[in-house]
Amino acid sequence: MCRNTLCLCRLQSLFLRGDPYVTGLIYDVQRFSVHDGPGIRTTVFMKGCPLRCGWCHNPEGLSGAVQPQFTPEECIGCGSCGGEHSLAGAKKCPTGALKAVGQEVTTEKLLAEVLADRDFYGEDGGVTFSGGECLLQAEFVAEMLRRIRNEGITTAVDSCGLVPWEAIRMTLPYTNTYLYDVKCLDGEKHRSFTGHDNRLILENLEKLAESGANLWIRVPVIPDFNDSAGEMTAIAALVHNTPGVSRVTLMPYHTLGKSKYATLGMIPGYETEKTIPQSKLSEFKSIFREAGLPVE
Ligand code: SF4
Repeated sequence: MCRNTLCLCRLQSLFLRGDPYVTGLIYDVQRFSVHDGPGIRTTVFMKGCPLRCGWCHNPEGLSGAVQPQFTPEECIGCGSCGGEHSLAGAKKCPTGALKAVGQEVTTEKLLAEVLADRDFYGEDGGVTFSGGECLLQAEFVAEMLRRIRNEGITTAVDSCGLVPWEAIRMTLPYTNTYLYDVKCLDGEKHRSFTGHDNRLILENLEKLAESGANLWIRVPVIPDFNDSAGEMTAIAALVHNTPGVSRVTLMPYHTLGKSKYATLGMIPGYETEKTIPQSKLSEFKSIFREAGLPVE
């Protein structure tokens, strides 16, 4: 079954019966995260994303399927994989040079994993679902959020917003904070750099705000895409008029995920030698501050 297809009838029937055997496809569980919501958190990274932002530093999250990853530096040339960088070969690799990225987990299994960290969460911390786009697997994420909240642990969802509203709506009763990306306001420009226009993303943001959600807005700052005072002023104005925003984070372009593309047999969609100087970032932050927004 394609995980990028949201059948709403199926979502609701699965969710309403609280099925402990709903499964999700994840590619990582990161502990002691301090950037994915309040406090100390465990972040679950789900596979599959509807966007193709050229600067994405988590290419493992783009495909909604399990895929092979080959790291040449770890290969000892034993030949067990038959020289084929396939999922079948990954099962035979003794060093992990060739491995499968993506793992199907049940809610039961993942819940046990995130509860193991509960002593570290404190009052503010908790569990964040990220990706990829975690809400492409909304039935699984909603059920996980419900179970985590039942344990008295706070939750966060990190979303690009390009999902049917129903997928977000299902998570509303069980989500303390939404981390939500705003990349640029021009629809055509958004399409040319990410593969989709931003109409649904902005509509969902408005609905989230109307629903009273606590919002952390994240703005990637990308050279030659949105690194201008004009772009930042437009985004700041939108965010200023969006109720419920408790934090804005500007995230400057970096190339830390670049080497992962080759290991997955992929090519980055956007590459530049340019960076965002600290002085420019400070200037952009002051634009948000002047709009009365809590920026970091
Ligand atoms: S099995 Fe692993 S270590 Fe051996 S040749 Fe294949 S990739 Fe390299």
